[in-house]
Amino acid sequence: MKDEVQHINLKEKFRGYGYKYTEQRQQVMEVILQHWQLHLSSDDIYEFLREKGLNIAQSTVYRTLVMLERIQAIRKVDLSEGYTRYEICSHEDRVHHHLICSQCGSVIDLHSNLLEDLENEICSKHDFHVKNRCFKFYGKCKKCRGQLEDK
Ligand SMILES: [Zn+2]
Ligand SMILES: [Zn+2]
Repeated sequence: MKDEVQHINLKEKFRGYGYKYTEQRQQVMEVILQHWQLHLSSDDIYEFLREKGLNIAQSTVYRTLVMLERIQAIRKVDLSEGYTRYEICSHEDRVHHHLICSQCGSVIDLHSNLLEDLENEICSKHDFHVKNRCFKFYGKCKKCRGQLEDK
């Protein structure tokens, strides 16, 4: 249901920019919406589309992602891994940070006011105006820790 609403909004967004929300673009967005927690890379998205039986070129996926980014449906996430991941832009999420599992590469969004406090402290202590920030926390997710305990 939530996805349907998202698609209707996206259709409007595309139209606003003079683009058509084609079947292929919908499929790309569908994959991103379905696996939004994963913060997929373009390769991941390509793989998911192939799994769904879609015959789509990798360059088409990439071009679609560029377009989706341009219309602010998705945004790039750089986790310093040497490749770019993508996440959905939604108005309710402002700044957030990422918890990254070093074992499986899963990413958890972190919304915390504590970091705002930290930022305020930095600003007043160093007379510095922070414009952008991105915290990354590395560790092991619940799933990966569970696997270890089973052994
Ligand atoms: Zn993990
Ligand atoms: Zn995120």
